[in-house]
Amino acid sequence: MDLNTIEHVQQPGARGEIPPFSPGDAFVGGGTWLFSEPQPHLRRLVDLSTLGWEPLRVSPEGLEIAATCTLAELNAANLPAEWPAAHLLADCCRCLMGSFKVWNMATVGGNLCMSLPAGPMISLSAGLEATCLLWAPDGTDRRVSLFDFITGPRQNALRPGEILRSIHIPAAVLARSAEMRRASLTRHGRSAALLIGTRDRTSGAFTLAVTASVPRPLQFHFPEAPDAQTLRARLEAGIPPEGFYDDIHGAPAWRRHMTVRMAEEIRNALYEGDRA
Ligand SMILES: Cc1cc2nc3c(=O)[nH]c(=O)nc-3n(C[C@H](O)[C@H](O)[C@H](O)COP(=O)(O)OP(=O)(O)OC[C@H]3O[C@@H](n4cnc5c(N)ncnc54)[C@H](O)[C@@H]3O)c2cc1C
Repeated sequence: MDLNTIEHVQQPGARGEIPPFSPGDAFVGGGTWLFSEPQPHLRRLVDLSTLGWEPLRVSPEGLEIAATCTLAELNAANLPAEWPAAHLLADCCRCLMGSFKVWNMATVGGNLCMSLPAGPMISLSAGLEATCLLWAPDGTDRRVSLFDFITGPRQNALRPGEILRSIHIPAAVLARSAEMRRASLTRHGRSAALLIGTRDRTSGAFTLAVTASVPRPLQFHFPEAPDAQTLRARLEAGIPPEGFYDDIHGAPAWRRHMTVRMAEEIRNALYEGDRA
């Protein structure tokens, strides 16, 4: 839709060209949410796509994903074979049920900054223990873990004028085995629960990220493979019944049931083969 209160659109080509922040400014990633509803409080848009950030960068340390990387670019990523968990990138892209038009515009950064519980890039970043690089308006940078970045539904750690520049996924996490499970009330609906579990192939440690069914991502770590009872007990102790998210995409009791059930499916898929 037209945003008819906008007076200026800035298209910086470098960090130094980003205008000083003032109330009424918004950064544009792909604009798939920003242009989907009225924004009467906004006066100026700062388009991040003109900064020309390389969408994906592979290094021995891991994967750097620019905030402006689109879902289409992420889905098409060709990553090293020694990163078995890399299949989660495409798996999580498919959790955003948009057309190719949305996939070609929506950005990883925009999804994180929206901070909806059902944000699939949030689930991906939680499951792969990403850190977020934030650019402050005074030219300084800071890094925060994804679990500190998302603070609640539609809430995050961004301060006024801060930009999410990129997310970093460590190579050691990408080298793990990984499983994902997702529940939605309808086939093409938003995620009501999305869990990602990883298994360290050297130590056997199990790490589980619970997203979408809770207001903000949660992580459960087990230095050794848990049995089914231990896993269930940790989840029940860690997330009380009132700790599950409640919106049109699923009732808390159902989300709780699916969370416990899918956690066990993940544990089973990652470890039970060992006992055969
Ligand atoms: C059909 C359809 C299905 C959808 N399904 C889902 C879904 O399942 N889950 C979900 O979470 N969303 C969904 N969305 C909403 C939205 O499209 C996505 O969240 C998308 O990823 C937003 O990315 P964007 O780049 O378009 O963000 P934009 O619309 O550009 O921006 C979103 C917000 O983030 C801010 N922002 C963007 N980039 C940055 C940055 N780098 N630094 C600081 N602030 C920034 C903007 O100012 C704005 O407030 C859906 C939308 C459609 C049309």
